Amino acid sequence: MTQLYRDLPSVDKVISAPEGQALVTKFGHSAVVAQLRLILNHARQAIANQQPFPRYLNDHTILYKKLQHDLNRLSQVQMRSVHNLTGTVLHTNLGRALWPESAQQAAMQAMKNNVALEYDMHNATRGHRDIFVSDLLAQLCDCEAACVVNNNAAAVLLILSTFARGKEVVISRGELVEIGGSFRIPDIMQQAGCELREVGTTNRTHLSDYQNHITENTALLMKVHPSNYQITGFTESVAEHTLAQLAREHNIPLVSDLGSGALVDLSQFGLPYEPTPKAMLHAGVDLVCFSGDKLLGGPQAGIIVGKKVMIDKLQCHPLKRVLRCDKVILSALEGTLRDYLLPEKIAENNPTLRHLTQDVASLKQSAVRLAQKLQEKLHQDYCIEIAPSHAQIGSGSQPTFQLLSYAVTVAPLTGHNADLMQLVRSLKQLSQPIIGRIEQQKLWLDLRSVADIDALLSGVDEL
Ligand SMILES: *Cc1c(COP(=O)(O)O)cnc(C)c1O
Repeated sequence: MTQLYRDLPSVDKVISAPEGQALVTKFGHSAVVAQLRLILNHARQAIANQQPFPRYLNDHTILYKKLQHDLNRLSQVQMRSVHNLTGTVLHTNLGRALWPESAQQAAMQAMKNNVALEYDMHNATRGHRDIFVSDLLAQLCDCEAACVVNNNAAAVLLILSTFARGKEVVISRGELVEIGGSFRIPDIMQQAGCELREVGTTNRTHLSDYQNHITENTALLMKVHPSNYQITGFTESVAEHTLAQLAREHNIPLVSDLGSGALVDLSQFGLPYEPTPKAMLHAGVDLVCFSGDKLLGGPQAGIIVGKKVMIDKLQCHPLKRVLRCDKVILSALEGTLRDYLLPEKIAENNPTLRHLTQDVASLKQSAVRLAQKLQEKLHQDYCIEIAPSHAQIGSGSQPTFQLLSYAVTVAPLTGHNADLMQLVRSLKQLSQPIIGRIEQQKLWLDLRSVADIDALLSGVDEL
């Protein structure tokens, strides 16, 4: 065993050889030494555990190859792009909305250049960073002003902290939801230092429930879109315009957390109607907040629209400074919103809406192409078929709504689950991994959520 330790090359010897020097020239001395030490430590461990002596230590050409490979990996971003074939268009764990072209271009400009972020070009005085987005939202949502923060959870926190710290917020028990990723309305209330006054029951809340719990300590009435949750059967809730009347009578603001917040009426595309921020404001809600990367189809952001006097207070709160967006996100959001100024083109220009509105025939065509490719590679071990499928919007939007779609299903000829798992692993090992979903002991590769079909097809060639 001691002989084996002695056979390990020294760091100096490896580095001073011409191949070592070439690596030092390319990557610098300290990175090469650090990476080599890792390799040698690994070898010492193998010897100590009486495992086979790593092959690359006997053959120095392999050692240098491995070293080069490891050093190349250091500079490779490990957060990989993947092909989303889950059928969930807005997949939170896969990064939600893809950015429209307009957002990508605006973001790229902002990355490479300085921008007039908080600099008023006309007066050379300090401007305010949400101003461009705010002006656009004023047009698109018919609101007086807007405020943008890191995400919608941050938007709710900022609203509650600004208007309800140390006071009570009245909300229906049917709307005390958990959105996933640990966003729970009661927890956010606690974080913001306000007291939750829950009213009504899980399935039914009446106007009188709100009425009976308004006191001189009430700061806000709040509505929360139940998003990923649906109450059906014997139910009742109070609509915004009714609640807005009550709020006005008591001179208390009404706030609505819309969650997804589609900017256009989705029913024109045959999708379920989602209340728009504009409709909420017209119904008399004072502030509405929603996400940037759900149905809006832009970058991660939390958008608050509504009354100027209230937005001004949000902008001045110290938490706004903590939660604000950077120049890249604000540029991307502006690009995303500008597309909405051409409403007839929005389903083409915005990838989220494009995916949600793609016609089933074209999805079937893509499924045929994908099935052919997979057939070439896998026909000996797997049964490959094309099947109608049900896709989803995702991110808590309309959880029970199923979007007609097409998928390629792959099942092992042996019928063994282990073989199915082996395929799932192989697809994850591709340079751009392919992620599907497992159902009925088959892998379903759903075409509705695919960003780039051509890239996907050439990816399969690697199998
Ligand atoms: C998704 C959602 C949130 C959280 O939004 P993020 O942008 O993910 O922070 C909050 N409220 C509702 C109703 C939601 O649907």
